[in-house]
Formats: sequence, C-alpha cells, structure tokens
Amino acid sequence: MIFESFPVGPIACNCTILGDEEAHEAIVIDPGDEVSRIHSRLTELGLKLKQILVTHAHIDHVGGALKLKRLTGAPIFLNENDLPLLKTLESQAAWLGVRAPEFAPPDESLNDGLIVGLERCPAQVLHTPGHTQGSVCLHFTPLKLLVAGDTLFAGSIGRTDLPGGDYAQIIDSLHTRLLALPDETQVLSGHGPVTTIGEERRSNPFLQSR
Ligand SMILES: [Zn+2]
Repeated sequence: MIFESFPVGPIACNCTILGDEEAHEAIVIDPGDEVSRIHSRLTELGLKLKQILVTHAHIDHVGGALKLKRLTGAPIFLNENDLPLLKTLESQAAWLGVRAPEFAPPDESLNDGLIVGLERCPAQVLHTPGHTQGSVCLHFTPLKLLVAGDTLFAGSIGRTDLPGGDYAQIIDSLHTRLLALPDETQVLSGHGPVTTIGEERRSNPFLQSR
C-alpha cells in the first residue's frame, strides 16, 4: 500500500493519499488546498482516484474537494450533518482572509458504519460529532490506523467554539468511540503529529476519566 500524508494550505491541514499499487487505485482524505500538488502526486504514482473523503466541512479540510473532483471525476463523501456548515464556506474564507472556494453538495454522506476506502484497504466511518455536527473519523481496521480529522490531536482535542461545535458532545464522542479502539491504533490527526490511542489514553488531559 502507498500511504502519504502531508500538510496543505495556510493552516496546514494533513491531507492523506492512500493507494493500492496493484489495483492502481487511491483515495484522498481532506484535500483542503494545494490540489494541483495532490493531483500531480496521484499522476506520478499512476493511481486512479476512487473517492474523496472529507472528515468535516471546515474550509481547511474541504476547500479543494470540488476542484479535485473536477480533475479526477471521483465522488466526494461528507457526513450530511455538515451540510449547513458547507454552505458557510464563504464566511469561513472571509474569516481566514482567503478566497472562497466553490462548493457543491457531496455525492454521498459519510454515515456512521459505512465502509469506504479501497477494496484491500477498507475503512469504517465513525460519526464523532462535537468539533462539528458532521465530524467523522475513518478507522482503517486492517492498518490499525485512525484518521481523526479535528476530533483528536496529539495532546489535545478539536475546538468546539466555532458554529456547530459542542464540548459535551466531542467529549462523549472521544470516550465512547475513540477510546473503544485498541491502544496500538495509530492516530493521524487533521493537524500536527501522529500519535496513538494508547498514548492519548495515558496522557491527553481531555481523555482522563470523567
Ligand atoms: Zn476543523
């Protein structure tokens, strides 16, 4: 499998390419910005994009999704509870001082329990509201990997003071869904370094017993 993760855009959202070199297929998670870079990398690797998966509708994660869809024809997946937030991309852009990207409704909703990803590398969708109402994490069970969006960070958790945020809800999502995963699960967050569920269970101040 090909696994590449790199920060894109002014607030360094971790964008991930996951590819199957035998099937020549890939998925991209959170193409927030730098779409030409992402697209050239897919071309270099000889991978056909099958799905564009977006963990939530903040501009730094979803900003490049439509552009990437137009270049590749791949469908966009986003949890339907973030549709109201998707409609605020213009004000999100103004808030960051960047140009608003075009947007379109996603092709499919990343509903809880849905299996997405590649045939040899599937992921289960965990709906983990709190940072936004439609925030999801993607659990690649065979890879022991969780792509956590802005729900969990190394040593911290996603902010809940933006529209759609709810502190009690993110704490509940973290305890009931993410802490249920095995300690050895690698966590790739929406920003910052990689961590593990075990490390966060031990040391993340937001995850200590309630
Ligand atoms: Zn966010």
